[in-house]
Amino acid sequence: MRKNIVAGNWKMNKTFPEAQELMFQLLEYKKHNTVNCEIAVAPPTLYLLMARNVFDAEDIKVMAQDMSAHSSGAYTGEISAEMLLSVHADGSIIGHSERRLYHGETDENCALKIKAALDNGLTPIYCNGENLDQRKAGQHLEVVKLQTETALFGLTADEIKKVVIAYEPVWAIGTGETATPEQAQEIHKFIRSFIAGKYGDEVADEISILYGGSVKPDNAKEIFAQPDVDGGLIGGAALDIADFSKIIEAFN
Ligand code: PEP
Repeated sequence: MRKNIVAGNWKMNKTFPEAQELMFQLLEYKKHNTVNCEIAVAPPTLYLLMARNVFDAEDIKVMAQDMSAHSSGAYTGEISAEMLLSVHADGSIIGHSERRLYHGETDENCALKIKAALDNGLTPIYCNGENLDQRKAGQHLEVVKLQTETALFGLTADEIKKVVIAYEPVWAIGTGETATPEQAQEIHKFIRSFIAGKYGDEVADEISILYGGSVKPDNAKEIFAQPDVDGGLIGGAALDIADFSKIIEAFN
């Protein structure tokens, strides 16, 4: 049975003491509240070990924001799956639209990263989604189909079951624009049935598909209530404990 997940992507925000404070706030929150979803946090790489140490007690998952497809070697600035494992990280976001836009990430590259993550027992959160021009041209289903196929369809059924997908329309990320619950459901259902077409319903039903793009406390409940939306990947609102905890409570 697939899991409901609320994952926070902190991006390039927070100094060390600020990150530490937010981690302790989240830890305290989880300790004292009933939570009906899995919580994951993707802090900057520099703070992964701290996150692991702080969050272990409350089983909050710790994710990187990106990882290399290579296992080791002369790749300045990169981190490998093995390194993530060595600090007991649980997984990594892969293919975030900001990585695609600013760092030339492609679906082919994502496929290699996803495989490297799975080979090392890490959970990949694979991001896909169309940009504004593609949405306006009515190409959103085609775009997401190609992204899904290219990055994921080289995997076996057992492997793809372990992937978390985050549908993130680029036009909704950090813009305050959100897909309507119906728009989110349309794409999530489409992704799930596309996967079912290749791997079968049982496999497709196991995969958590998160929505990302300006999820806030006031729209989370409605979006998460859609039958094929299994939670959210949260950017801006993950940086404030009051907002992030209210989004978590959308599952209560
Ligand atoms: C994101 O970057 O994954 C994201 C969804 O950002 P925001 O919530 O700020 O739109």
